[in-house]
Amino acid sequence: MIEENVKRILEELPPGVQLVAAAKTRTPEEILQAAEAGILIIGQNYVQEALAAFNLIGHRVKWHFIGHLQRNKAKKAIEIFDMIETLDSVELAREIDKRSNNRDKIISVLIEVNSGREKQKFGIFPEEVESFLQEISGFKNIKIQGLMTMGPMFGDPENARPYFVETKKVFERIKSLDLPDVEMKYLSMGMTNSYRVAIEEGANIVRIGTKIFGPREYD
Ligand SMILES: *Cc1c(COP(=O)(O)O)cnc(C)c1O
Repeated sequence: MIEENVKRILEELPPGVQLVAAAKTRTPEEILQAAEAGILIIGQNYVQEALAAFNLIGHRVKWHFIGHLQRNKAKKAIEIFDMIETLDSVELAREIDKRSNNRDKIISVLIEVNSGREKQKFGIFPEEVESFLQEISGFKNIKIQGLMTMGPMFGDPENARPYFVETKKVFERIKSLDLPDVEMKYLSMGMTNSYRVAIEEGANIVRIGTKIFGPREYD
């Protein structure tokens, strides 16, 4: 099941679009199955949960952190993850930078954009991304590689399109500024129900869980 799902999605994705298997709540064995079917990047929302799967699978795949990272988990996160897709505050940037420096590592990050300007969600508002980048530009062990957004949840993915469009606009504008040490290479948008729309609007990373592993029992 997982194997067929992975193969079907990989065949469907246009060249240049990377698939992150969003693995929250899945067992290490399920995640290993996905890796063996061709998944190259695993996305995890919780450091503790990632650890179990990481211990089984290790560096055969890349690991992306896609949840809200608490500062007190940054140290452990740096040990596991190749990229943190959800950088959303200066304080977190400072902590990640310090922990990466301690390990002599440079960690790739995406800036999480709160494209829906939702109070209950994390992320930088679209109009604040530029000043946020200036605030974190001094952190030498962080490599800024693009943007990530969730966007509001809708039954009909067409309703998500404006939020993807807005995030892509920010992405292009930042790119055109050619800021030092800011690379706008990755745009991570779209989940099971919205990834097709997200790709149409310029996503080159999609994060898919349900369509790979089946429905979750809880979130
Ligand atoms: C769970 C999750 C996904 C995947 O969601 P599905 O609807 O199961 O595809 C993608 N991104 C993030 C940040 C998630 O937490």
